[in-house]
Amino acid sequence: MQHIHRAFALLILAAPLAVPQAPSGQAPSAGQPGTTRVGAPEQAVPRTSRRRRPPDRFAGQERIRALLISGGCCHDYRGQDKILMDLMADVLPVDWTILYEGGQSSDARVALYNKPNWAEGFDVVIHNECFANVADEKFIRQITSVHKAGMPAMVIHCTMHSYRAATVDDWREFVGVTTRRHTRRHNIAVKVADRDSSLTESIPSDWTTPIDELYVVEKVWPTSTVLATAVSPEEGNAVYPVIWTNDFHGARVFGTTLGHGETFDDPVFRDLLIRAFKWTVKRE
Ligand SMILES: [Zn+2]
Repeated sequence: MQHIHRAFALLILAAPLAVPQAPSGQAPSAGQPGTTRVGAPEQAVPRTSRRRRPPDRFAGQERIRALLISGGCCHDYRGQDKILMDLMADVLPVDWTILYEGGQSSDARVALYNKPNWAEGFDVVIHNECFANVADEKFIRQITSVHKAGMPAMVIHCTMHSYRAATVDDWREFVGVTTRRHTRRHNIAVKVADRDSSLTESIPSDWTTPIDELYVVEKVWPTSTVLATAVSPEEGNAVYPVIWTNDFHGARVFGTTLGHGETFDDPVFRDLLIRAFKWTVKRE
């Protein structure tokens, strides 16, 4: 069953800016923000019609139409959807379309991907999905074709293990790395490889994530730039990328294999997501 929620940032912003109403029978003072006083001093201002709308903090900025695709095995996608929306609401004017599909399944096929030009009308797609056992080449190429044509993307955590049953590499080339498994869960010590990037400049040198999964990366595609790595507690201390960017036929792709669970609550990771979103839509 498909669930589509359109959540417009304007509505989200309106809630915290609502002005408290004056107690019954008491006129608001002239200087109170969000109210207007007219007529005789004793005349109370109607409470529902005289409020000034709060100024649009993003006035004059072009709004961003974001499509967030989430769902599948092993993670709290509904909670992560909300975190992503709330984070961006503070920094950019975003109109969200959230497509949550597939439940906890690992082999669901997101119906939207069957549509040609499935991301038409959007400025960016965030893939936070986990459908490892879908192997249909035609279906996978239908997904990547949209990005090959220029649609920028963020790819998060299990997105990298999605479509791993496929024998073709189209999805791996799109996300920028090839990975099929992860190490045991542990607190991952992240080492920044590129300090000059706007994406990593705020990551502390001693950042360690909450319990997360370190994805075993077999291959970094030549179009990818590794921004941060971590050392495996297994496999002879092999080093794997955890944050990178990919130039997929000219489309900007930001990737991170972090984000299994509590990492979404980590302030450093949250800041990274904001920076990644801004970079992906070229609003950094
Ligand atoms: Zn996970």
